[in-house]
Amino acid sequence: MGTYRIAVLPGDGIGPEVISEGVKVLEVLERVVPDLRLECREYPAGAVCYLARKDALPPETLEACRQADAIFLGAMGDPKVRMPDGTEVTPQISLRFLLDLYAGVRPIKMYPNVGSPLHRQDPGSIDLLLIRENVEGFFASMHRGLLVGDQVATDTLVITRRGTERVVRFAFELSRKRKGSPVTGTRVVTCVDKANVFRSFAFFRKVFDEIATEFPEIKTNHVYVDAMALYLVQRPGDFDVVVAENLLGDILSDLGAGLVGGLGMAPSADIGDRHAVFQPAHGTAPDIAGQGIANPLAAILSAGLMLEWLGQMHRDAAATKAAGLLEHAVQQVLKAGRVKTRDLGGRASTGQVGDAVAGSLR
Ligand code: ATP
Repeated sequence: MGTYRIAVLPGDGIGPEVISEGVKVLEVLERVVPDLRLECREYPAGAVCYLARKDALPPETLEACRQADAIFLGAMGDPKVRMPDGTEVTPQISLRFLLDLYAGVRPIKMYPNVGSPLHRQDPGSIDLLLIRENVEGFFASMHRGLLVGDQVATDTLVITRRGTERVVRFAFELSRKRKGSPVTGTRVVTCVDKANVFRSFAFFRKVFDEIATEFPEIKTNHVYVDAMALYLVQRPGDFDVVVAENLLGDILSDLGAGLVGGLGMAPSADIGDRHAVFQPAHGTAPDIAGQGIANPLAAILSAGLMLEWLGQMHRDAAATKAAGLLEHAVQQVLKAGRVKTRDLGGRASTGQVGDAVAGSLR
């Protein structure tokens, strides 16, 4: 395989701090895996970019993203920087629509020594993939809702057959590659909705059931979103792959991150048929930005998802191997338990955690 071009968009707040640790780890991997070649190039986007150029996603950044083999993104936005309509800049969400990144992959996985608010959760006892439909659902109304005078506001939930079919199929295909739920060892895809109340969700469920027939070897499950919030806390180990509409997936992925050590431990991938963005699930965390205390593991694990995806897309054993080594290195650092940031109960800096992962790789 040739050289992968990686468009790096560090963004705002803790984005640049955690992304530089991710790039550090990627550079070490290039040395450890001789056939892996990456060309990481940074591009501006986000709130700081908006202040400087009145554009949060400049055309040359978007073009670089279109041309890249993968996009590695930090976090974007700043509550203090508002557009004329009062909203924050969200180029990271715009990219999902512009590049048709329809599947939001949110791994919820328990690593060693991280600590969960739930009792009796051992490493590996929670290991599920939440797939969030990324480009329709409630977000179809983004910036397009109606405001009637100062009295009534509406946003519309949009579910299409095409949008649902492709994300549900994506979820089943991922389940096929996994070992099933950690508790039962069974491959099962769970459809989360509110089909008892809304016609749109009943349609989502109907399409889910139709696609499920293409995968007879994988079990299916239906759970209403309110019950899902309960089950994720009571018995998260029962789940394998979960698929949900955009806003439901958005909310459940933060709940899932909370189960496995918080946002600093939650990587994510936004994947389409041609492009993909990999970024930590957290935001810009203005409360801790600039202090060097952000947990970079979500960003580093997102770089791991990127390598895994490149390996699959290009049938490239070097990228797949690098993804496995990265995952192992993070496991080793956490197992040793000495180098952890404050959110995990440690005292290490962002850079020290990146160095520890890099050191473990070497
Ligand atoms: P956004 O709206 O931009 O997605 P958010 O409202 O989800 O952001 P975050 O910026 O992700 O919020 O931060 C939520 C909380 O989690 C904050 O208290 C922040 O300090 C903490 N947090 C987020 N990411 C990290 C991290 N990598 N390391 C340590 N703490 C973090």
